[in-house]
Amino acid sequence: MNKLLQRQLKRVQRKHSTPEDQLDALIQVIDSYYEESDRARRKKDRSVSLMSEELLELNKKILAKSEAYISAIMENVADGIIITQDTYEISSFNQAAEQMFGYLKEDINVLSFEKLLSEESLEKFSGIKEAYSQSEFFQLEGTELELYGKARNGREFPMEISINPVSIDDEGFFLMILKDISRRKRYQAELMEAKVKAEIAAEEKTRFLSNMSHEIRTPMNAVIGLTNLLIENDPRDDQKEMLRTINFSGNNLLVIINDILDFNKIDAGKVELESIPFSLKEISGSIRSALMPKAADKGIDLSFEMDANLPSQLKGDPVRMSQILTNLVNNAVKFTLEGGVRFIVKEKGRTEDKVELYFAVQDTGIGIPEDKLDHIFESFSQSNSNTTRKFGGTGLGLAICKELVDLHGGELKVSSQLGKGSTFYFTLEFPLIELDSPSQQQETIKKDKKIVFSGLEGLNVLLVEDNKINQMVASRYLKKWKISYQIANNGVEACDKILVERFDIVLMDLHMPERDGYEATRVIRANQEAYYKEVPIIALTASVVGDINREVQEAGMNAYVSKPFQPADLYSTMLRQLGVKV
Ligand code: ADP
Repeated sequence: MNKLLQRQLKRVQRKHSTPEDQLDALIQVIDSYYEESDRARRKKDRSVSLMSEELLELNKKILAKSEAYISAIMENVADGIIITQDTYEISSFNQAAEQMFGYLKEDINVLSFEKLLSEESLEKFSGIKEAYSQSEFFQLEGTELELYGKARNGREFPMEISINPVSIDDEGFFLMILKDISRRKRYQAELMEAKVKAEIAAEEKTRFLSNMSHEIRTPMNAVIGLTNLLIENDPRDDQKEMLRTINFSGNNLLVIINDILDFNKIDAGKVELESIPFSLKEISGSIRSALMPKAADKGIDLSFEMDANLPSQLKGDPVRMSQILTNLVNNAVKFTLEGGVRFIVKEKGRTEDKVELYFAVQDTGIGIPEDKLDHIFESFSQSNSNTTRKFGGTGLGLAICKELVDLHGGELKVSSQLGKGSTFYFTLEFPLIELDSPSQQQETIKKDKKIVFSGLEGLNVLLVEDNKINQMVASRYLKKWKISYQIANNGVEACDKILVERFDIVLMDLHMPERDGYEATRVIRANQEAYYKEVPIIALTASVVGDINREVQEAGMNAYVSKPFQPADLYSTMLRQLGVKV
């Protein structure tokens, strides 16, 4: 029996003597227990019900709050948000979308998303719909694309849209996020316009430079050409001196023009390196003959220290290599007042088909201040503002050298101490050439020799040139070399003349009225007779902008000589065209 009941029984037996009284008393005790437990249960029920009401209320509040959050996000984002059913009927639309399309929330319940697209975009969108209809909704992937939206007032505007298929409890809908990109598109269009304008300006700059170079070189041709002729005509000693100065200044001016043109060409990324056999010895030889007199005049040494076992022939771009090295040696001589300049070439390594060479130009000159070392390779930069006054120069030489060494795959560096001297150095790799035939060797040696003006006597040349002074300069030389000639004043005359007379060589100016040199060459080459296909045509041009070499070859010419021409250059080019090895 329950202990509590036993205790109550004992208490009842103690208080009451008869069994009836005891039973009554016991029943009362039990009743009162029941009542008490009833009261407690009712109280508990009441508090449980109160608590669940509170919980419900709380739940409602949380729900309302999260809805408020979602709607605040929906209404405050800058992007338009549209929710559609899987049939593309719109079911929800935020404020940004409202502003974008000019529809109110009330209007959209019956609206299909397609109503918001321009005619043109409808087609694009139907493609997406078509693709989406091929798979189960829950397998669809989001898409991002650009479409044209159409507002209620008919305004069409570009928009970026991301379509996100969402499925919740087997129910599918699309969440579309839209961005009006009219402004971005406008900026893009403006940028494109600016880019096109900049490109046109760059082209115009190149054309302008090409024209200017032609215009400047043509009178320079007269100055240098006629000075050369006068020098060769036994002038008096005092005249000789002045003529040499005119010649020197003319050539200097040409170097400056060439620098500016070259820089422009490199800047426009239009320089392509050649890959032909050349001899470093030949290059150092021509640097020596060009700059030795200048060094001797200044009373400084100029030494050439090249490893004895350097390959006699390398493959590369001799013109550009010579340009780099001449520039560095010229600077070194220019900026050295006492002491000397060393031109050093060392072999750093060699494999079966490549050789790595170290080039350095070392001087004991004025040096470069440390804080200027980084800047001297920039265009138009000089280490000191009075450099131009004292030493001359444009500040372009090193910028060009640096770019050219870069193009060769190396890096031009400098170390210098103010007042002590500077060293410019770089390392390059060159493919090796097998030198197996002795004739090749001989050719190299021959090239070192000075040209002798013989071998062209009695030739018959057609000189095609519109400029009277250029005609005079060129014809004086032709006469001097005992070459007979005819002059054609333009391309049309040239084509007529060559039909009635056979010439051994044609010297062809490029820029001429009526028919230019390119066109005239094409007409001549188009003639079926073998002679017209074979007669050597040498371009004589004052223009050095663009890839002249390729252009003249494409037109059917055999070679070109730039004006003002060096007499030896023109002579040897003509000899070469006649098959004489020079
Ligand atoms: P430029 O010689 O025509 O002024 P460069 O581009 O060749 O232009 O050289 C830029 C500047 O670098 C020079 O003006 C000079 O201040 C400095 N520089 C170049 N080479 C030397 C050198 N060997 N010694 C001292 N300064 C030099």
